[in-house]
Amino acid sequence: MFDAIHMRPCGRPTKTGNPCRAQFSGRGFACKIHTTDHEKQLVDAYEQGLRAGREEGRRQEQQTADIRVENLERQVRTLEEKLDTQNRRFEIDGHQCVTVGRYAYVWTGPGRLKVGDRVLLPENYVSALRQGPGPQPGTVTALGSTYTGTHSKILSRLPASG
Ligand SMILES: [Zn+2]
Repeated sequence: MFDAIHMRPCGRPTKTGNPCRAQFSGRGFACKIHTTDHEKQLVDAYEQGLRAGREEGRRQEQQTADIRVENLERQVRTLEEKLDTQNRRFEIDGHQCVTVGRYAYVWTGPGRLKVGDRVLLPENYVSALRQGPGPQPGTVTALGSTYTGTHSKILSRLPASG
């Protein structure tokens, strides 16, 4: 009866000896008049406990969800690294290959390129659209590439930009 939400009669004895006919609803033991201070404290404590429990539940659910997402992200990273290691090539037909941004190139010029080197790249479809026609400068972002298609040739080295 404590947790009943429907209207129900109080039923506590009154001064006349008849049961109280006042109706009450919600969590509680009796109508407002006949609820003792102790009972009121019990109800308050109970409701407080419920609220705290719900908040705790939400917090834990969130934590569980966070952990699951973190695990998935870690798995994806591991898989990406594994695929990268399996597919990365550092030379094609005897020429060094490097990655510049999102694209892969071969370097047929003298010496070896390293990450951070400035180079001149041939025009491609995307660079023509974005930067206009003609060769474009770029910076080597990674050694080797995982691209399986044809690699364009880097035109030349550029002096390091100040
Ligand atoms: Zn009553």
